[in-house]
Amino acid sequence: MDQANGFPEFQDLAINRQDLVKNVLSDRESGDHYDAFMASVHDLNPVYSVPGDGDDMKIEKTDAQWQQELTDEQYHVCRQKGTERPFSGEYVHFDGQGAYSCVCCGQVLFESTTKFDAGCGWPSFWEVVDKEAVKYIEDKSLGMDRIEVVCSACEAHLGHVFPDGPEPTGLRYCMNSVALEFKQED
Ligand SMILES: [Zn+2]
Repeated sequence: MDQANGFPEFQDLAINRQDLVKNVLSDRESGDHYDAFMASVHDLNPVYSVPGDGDDMKIEKTDAQWQQELTDEQYHVCRQKGTERPFSGEYVHFDGQGAYSCVCCGQVLFESTTKFDAGCGWPSFWEVVDKEAVKYIEDKSLGMDRIEVVCSACEAHLGHVFPDGPEPTGLRYCMNSVALEFKQED
């Protein structure tokens, strides 16, 4: 198992995810929610990510290749882990029926049926289309403990996942519009 892409210790954890999500929600005001948040992601990781299983479709390109193929903004967000300005992305208030793919490699990541308005300024989803479509990485940048979400095929940075989404998952996949490409349902 690749240490960087998963949480190898998850098998030892027997934590009730719903309880953790509730803790997270009640602790939000105090600012202490990140510990519970981290624990909850550790707990749900076995369900939502099986690190290593997507390796057969791995796409590897050099940095120069990505820079050539992507727009400046796509490159900045997807390959340099940038974040688009809130409410600036084309999919924030978009409600077309169809699927959202990785802008770098085309792997389908989300369906419009799981999109919801989180009011946070970025397109948000409560579920990935397939648990193998993304990988989770612990992100301690900017003095925060967050869970980064990357495309399992090309490792494009997509955004982060937070435990304050709606049922049935309680998750909010907070994505950058620029990392996604929408295709209308036929
Ligand atoms: Zn990709």
